[in-house]
Amino acid sequence: MKNKTILIQGAMDIEVEYLIAQLEKKEKHTIAGYEFYTGYIHTSKLIVSKTLVGVVNATTSTTIGIMTFQPDIVINQGIAGAHKSNIHIGDIIIGKKCCNINAFSMPTKHKGYSSNPFEWEPNKRGEEIQSGDEKLVSTFKEFFESYNENTIYTGTLGSGDVFNREYDRITWLQNRFNHLCEDMESIGTYSVCNRFKIPRIGIRIVSNNELTNERLDKEQAVILQKLFIDFFNEIFSF
Ligand code: SAH
Repeated sequence: MKNKTILIQGAMDIEVEYLIAQLEKKEKHTIAGYEFYTGYIHTSKLIVSKTLVGVVNATTSTTIGIMTFQPDIVINQGIAGAHKSNIHIGDIIIGKKCCNINAFSMPTKHKGYSSNPFEWEPNKRGEEIQSGDEKLVSTFKEFFESYNENTIYTGTLGSGDVFNREYDRITWLQNRFNHLCEDMESIGTYSVCNRFKIPRIGIRIVSNNELTNERLDKEQAVILQKLFIDFFNEIFSF
């Protein structure tokens, strides 16, 4: 991470506050209501960005962040819900890929014919798979495996403006997209970075699993930020 400018994002206060508190030579910039905090941790030049929740906010703030600060790398991080029953709170998922699990077309049904989401099919955006940067995937995999006692997965992040809580729906989505977890921002970050050709990675700590009745624990967000601070304090070269 030496001499690299890193844009690191989180959606909610709890997902960025710990990182912001650790910044040296901190400066705050607010653009169109989106907050960016520049500063240093060890030799890494960071911009901590509070994207706010959802794909539209993630997309907008990633675009502003790239055009304003010209980062070399973008990291989208935060909490996510597991979409497999063997993945538990505290496990970490590294986004080798990312897909939009909330982009569908559906058959026409006239008045009185009800609605059946199991008949919906992914549309063009739903079929697009975005890739994370391979070098970042392997670097973070190696780092997290040596630091964290919970299981580290690399795979697909599912993303969309939806918080699924129905067992059958989650299973149906998982069969379609083969993703490991669900968040509301990473697809925005991957899509914008792809356009700007900026290496990107999404890393999510599991905060809930609706399949196994593991209820939302937002504090997991702080654990993940602490791991990032350890990472930036280590000397990793790219
Ligand atoms: N009440 C909050 C939502 C908190 S949970 C609000 O609407 O502002 C949603 C946030 O946590 C999102 O930023 C999302 O990325 C993440 N998240 C955690 N678990 C999730 C899940 N199971 N499905 C979707 N997003 C989830």
